[in-house]
Amino acid sequence: AAVSAPKPSTENVIVTIRCRPFSQKESAAGHKKIVAIDPQTAYISLTSPKSETDVKSFTFDAAFDETCKQQEVYDSTARVIVDAVLSGFNGTVFCYGQTGTGKTFSMQGISDVPELRGIIPQAFHHIFSHISHRSTEKKFLVRVSFLEIYNEEIKDLLIKQPKGGRKIAGLELKEHPETGVYVKDLGTHVVKSVPEMEALMTLGNKNRSVGATLMNENSSRSHSIFTITVESSEPGADGKDRIVAGKLHLVDLAGSERQSKTGASGDRLKEATKINLSLSALGNCISALVDGKSSHVPYRDSKLTRLLQDSLGGNAKTLMIATLSPASYNYDETLSTLRYANRAK
Ligand code: ADP
Ligand code: MG
Repeated sequence: AAVSAPKPSTENVIVTIRCRPFSQKESAAGHKKIVAIDPQTAYISLTSPKSETDVKSFTFDAAFDETCKQQEVYDSTARVIVDAVLSGFNGTVFCYGQTGTGKTFSMQGISDVPELRGIIPQAFHHIFSHISHRSTEKKFLVRVSFLEIYNEEIKDLLIKQPKGGRKIAGLELKEHPETGVYVKDLGTHVVKSVPEMEALMTLGNKNRSVGATLMNENSSRSHSIFTITVESSEPGADGKDRIVAGKLHLVDLAGSERQSKTGASGDRLKEATKINLSLSALGNCISALVDGKSSHVPYRDSKLTRLLQDSLGGNAKTLMIATLSPASYNYDETLSTLRYANRAK
């Protein structure tokens, strides 16, 4: 059964695209650039490698070209979502796109190089700077968890992995009548500083399961969700503490490429089917939310959407960054990413 939507609002969904630069290898090979972006108007056009006159164009809430810096992306997109979380709303930020287009670069970047920090470490700095400015009036409690969905199985990325690659059972999704969907036995960690959060991010990344595909040896076949909960309390006029809590999901999705291109078969194919299931379920939920006419949002169709349910739609703020390659040989995947993003507008 589908859950009824709590009055969808399109303003709560921001859809942006980001195109990465050519890699050295691509430049050396002389690949043609087929993506043109006007950041001013958030307009993007994609030229077919088969015909110069076949040009498809789209506009989004924002469009970032290859010269855009991490800080710019954060300031014009994620910053308002983190601010909303600090005032007690829920939010989700996710990157969608083909493997190798900059999802992990955008979400994580390189956290020890300040100008290359992605959205996750920038959010850490943002949150703790907010807290340090308000710690005299309010008390704060920040907690994080980090999980992975691989083959529709949920794994806690912040626990010590068993030796010798021994498999542990996936965690169960449960539903509480009042507090909603949660993952049974998922660890939540109280953090008091940016370095503590960064250490957990690093630990979780190490634990992420990575499978090699023909597309990219390091291609990630799993979705990861880094969740930050910020709770603040201050004495209210009635003498009782006033508690405000917001939750932020930071999601690095698996590559959106279709399995045919990666030459998948057997287990890999089964895996790819499940990845595509979650991605299409997410697309269907967002499109139902922004459409405004749908009476229900199909959250129940995948573990990913069930987990994000309380932070997608309603009063929650959602940011999608669709990541693109500029090169002509990725035309089909780029077009399919643009269409996916376009449905979410
Ligand atoms: P994905 O997570 O989508 O598979 P990555 O984030 O791993 O892709 O990016 C692939 C490569 O491209 C990495 O070497 C990354 O550093 C580089 N890259 C991606 N986006 C950018 C960007 N906007 N600017 C510079 N380098 C980028
Ligand atoms: Mg990645």
